[in-house]
Amino acid sequence: MGDGHEINAVPTHRPGAGLKALDRSPGAFNRSRFYRSREWRAVRAVHLVREPYCVQCLAGGRAVAGSAVHHVETVEAAPGRKLDPTNLRTLCRECHSALHKRAAPAGGAGPAVDA
Ligand SMILES: [Zn+2]
Ligand SMILES: [Zn+2]
Repeated sequence: MGDGHEINAVPTHRPGAGLKALDRSPGAFNRSRFYRSREWRAVRAVHLVREPYCVQCLAGGRAVAGSAVHHVETVEAAPGRKLDPTNLRTLCRECHSALHKRAAPAGGAGPAVDA
């Protein structure tokens, strides 16, 4: 009868609980939540139908299918315009990441890709 310690192996709490609390940090705008929202997906889809090509490549005479819908004014800077079609630009993957690399301060931000 010396097997009492086996009980310790039973997990009493799961890591998922802590992650949920992080997801709804009060005050800060929840970027990933917005990009998963139904409203954004609908606006994005409509925009891509109206503007299917990367506007930057198009300006250079190339028709490149867009893969990202970029916010001219970021959702943090202009929350009221996050679903405003006039605040959106279709960009290809290359132009989009180049634009964000230039906009981000050196050594900071990390993957601040909106889509
Ligand atoms: Zn492009
Ligand atoms: Zn963007």
